[in-house]
Amino acid sequence: MSQEFEKIERPTVAAMEEISGQPFKVLDDGFIRVVDYMGSDASIVQAARVSYGKGTKKIHQDRGLIRYLLRHRHTTPFEMCELKLHLRVPMDCWRQWIRHRTANVNEYSTRYSIAIDAAQTTAPDEWRYQAEGNRQGSTGFLPPGEGAHFSEKERELHALARQVYEERLNAGIAREQARKDLPLSTYTEAYWKIDLHNLLHFLSLRMDEHAQYEIRCYAEIIGKEILRRWCPIVWEAFLDYRMNALSLSGLEVAIIREIAAGNPDAAVKLAIANKWLPEEAGAPVKRNRERAECERKLQRLNLDIPWKERLKS
Ligand SMILES: Cc1cc2nc3c(=O)[nH]c(=O)nc-3n(C[C@H](O)[C@H](O)[C@H](O)COP(=O)(O)OP(=O)(O)OC[C@H]3O[C@@H](n4cnc5c(N)ncnc54)[C@H](O)[C@@H]3O)c2cc1C
Repeated sequence: MSQEFEKIERPTVAAMEEISGQPFKVLDDGFIRVVDYMGSDASIVQAARVSYGKGTKKIHQDRGLIRYLLRHRHTTPFEMCELKLHLRVPMDCWRQWIRHRTANVNEYSTRYSIAIDAAQTTAPDEWRYQAEGNRQGSTGFLPPGEGAHFSEKERELHALARQVYEERLNAGIAREQARKDLPLSTYTEAYWKIDLHNLLHFLSLRMDEHAQYEIRCYAEIIGKEILRRWCPIVWEAFLDYRMNALSLSGLEVAIIREIAAGNPDAAVKLAIANKWLPEEAGAPVKRNRERAECERKLQRLNLDIPWKERLKS
C-alpha cells in the first residue's frame, strides 16, 4: 500500500473536560451531567472536507463552513459528534423527552430497583394558570397565598404515595407492581446519548417558548451550559439560524413586500383572500392561528399590522 496515513489524535475540548461529570442542577432536585462526548466543531469541518478531499483550514474558514452547513440544512457532518448525558428528571418531563426517538437511552429500572425517593415539588409561587389562547400552555402565576394550599396538598400526596409504595415493598409485593401509583413527579434517571444533528433538533423544539417550562429548563442547560462549551461555533450558528431566526411563509413574504412598498391595503386584501379576515370591514373577526402568528412576526420586525383597525371590531 503506497498511501501514507497521518496519526489521528482523538479530539478533546478543554471546556468539556472541565465540566465532565459535574452536575448542573435543574428544577428542585434534577440534574444533567456530561458522561462523555465525541468530536468538536473541528470534527464537523473535518467530515465535511472529506467530501472534497481537503484538509482543515483556518479557524475563520471553519466558522464559515459550519455556518454554511447549518444554514443549508446539511445533516451528516453534525452526526459525526455525539454527546452522552446522565439525567435526573421528573417522570412527566421524561415522558416528553423520550418522544425524541433518535437518542440512545438507558433508564433506571423501577422493576429492578426501588424507585428514587424524590418527587418534584412546586413552591407556592410556582403554580401556573392555564393559558386561554394556547390549550397546551400556561400563563402567569397563582398568588403565593393560594399557591401555598396546593404546595401543602402536594406534600401530603407525595408522602402518602411514598408511604403506600414502601408498605407494598415491605409486604413483599413485586417492585414492578408496587410502583404503579407513584406520582409522575417522581424523579427518574437515565443515560441519554444523541448525535449533534438530532440534539439541535431536540433543542430547537424544547428550548422553544411553546415547550413546557420544565423540559425547557433542561434543554436550556444542555444548550447554554453544555453545547456552548462543546461546539461554540455550532452553538452560535444554531442561535442565529434556528432559535433567533424567523421563518416566513410565501403569503407572509407577499404581505411584507406590500407593507414595505407602502401598500397596506394590498396586504389586507391578501389576508382577506386567504380567509384570515372577513371580506367586510366591520364584520366580527374570528380567531385565526396563522394570522396571529403572522402578526407576532410583524411585531418582531417592528412593522405595523395593516389590519389592526379591523381587529377592534
Ligand atoms: C411543543 C410541543 C407539543 C407537543 N405536543 C404533543 C401532543 O400533544 N401529543 C403528542 O403525542 N406529541 C406531542 N409532541 C411531541 C412531538 O409530536 C414529537 O413526537 C416530539 O417532539 C419528537 O419530535 P421528532 O419526532 O421530530 O423527534 P425525533 O424522534 O428525535 O426524530 C427526529 C427526526 O427524525 C425523523 N424520524 C425519527 N423517527 C422516525 C420514524 N419512525 N419515521 C420517520 N421519521 C422519523 C423525523 O424527521 C424526526 O423529525 C409535542 C412536542 C412539542 C415540542
